[in-house]
Amino acid sequence: MLGIVWDDKFKEIAFSHPMIKDIAKERIRRFIEIARQKLNFIEIKPEKATIDDLLKIHDESYVKKIEEVSKLPYIGFLDGGDTIHYPGMIDDVLLVLGASITAIKYSRFIEKIYIPLGGFHHALRQRAMGFCPINDVAFTALALLEKGERVAIIDVDAHHGNGLQEYLYDKSILKINIFAYDGKFFPGTGKIEERGIGDGKGLNYNVQLPLYSGDDVFEEALRILEIVPDFNPTYILIVGGVDGHKDDGLKSLNLSCNSYNLLGLKVRRISLNSKVIGYGGGGYGKMSSECMVSFLLGLEGKREEIEAKTFSEKEKIEKVKNEINLLLQGFS
Ligand SMILES: [Zn+2]
Repeated sequence: MLGIVWDDKFKEIAFSHPMIKDIAKERIRRFIEIARQKLNFIEIKPEKATIDDLLKIHDESYVKKIEEVSKLPYIGFLDGGDTIHYPGMIDDVLLVLGASITAIKYSRFIEKIYIPLGGFHHALRQRAMGFCPINDVAFTALALLEKGERVAIIDVDAHHGNGLQEYLYDKSILKINIFAYDGKFFPGTGKIEERGIGDGKGLNYNVQLPLYSGDDVFEEALRILEIVPDFNPTYILIVGGVDGHKDDGLKSLNLSCNSYNLLGLKVRRISLNSKVIGYGGGGYGKMSSECMVSFLLGLEGKREEIEAKTFSEKEKIEKVKNEINLLLQGFS
């Protein structure tokens, strides 16, 4: 059974740069329309989180700052120039975080839950970053860990989940991050050698895809998912950002929606003994909503091909093939 955490207020919430704020909102609006046409799901209304919940993952001074800027009568930036603040923002932040709390509660009865507006993987404990005012995925992962669950995270958003890595680097959580990388592409983090420390030693996987890689490279990268069942997770969290699509405004990878459908199909196969909580992540293109639904169809075991598959130069495939082989050999 699939549940989607939904509140009509989601249609009006975007923390992105003003230039792409409208695209981000449009993606969420179209997502729910297409989802209602193509998917069978239960709609779950999110609760609102509290300031105390927020304090579990963010420094007090930063939480105070969000509260303060929410009282200002104008729009500004929470960070260097990506993540906006606006009047009344704190209410939206608490609703977004509440979606994760609700997802955790309902996951006792519903195997697969999706939060279209969520997956803010860049946010750090002390500050906002990359359109992400709060780190809802870190919240969920840490809350589940505290309950004694075994958690695996698969993050395929085109940008490296630097915030998530920082929060969870020393935690006993399996983290697989597949993202576009050339050393400069935002946020510029995510070295392959970064494998975790302490309880998290050997559990951090960074898979770097060359910029403009196609579906064939992405499929090659997904081979890394074979390590997930060995970890025996009770929960698999997905940051399913679709901003690697070829028409995305942030220009990163050259994927079609097929890649996200394939991800869904593969996650379905490895989650027979796990609950799944998925997040929409990033997506700033005309096909973003379609790709999100394609992922969910895959998760339900349905193949969908609404676009032609994309291909990459041989060197890109070879590079990622070697990278995956290297990472798989290191797993013990
Ligand atoms: Zn992204």
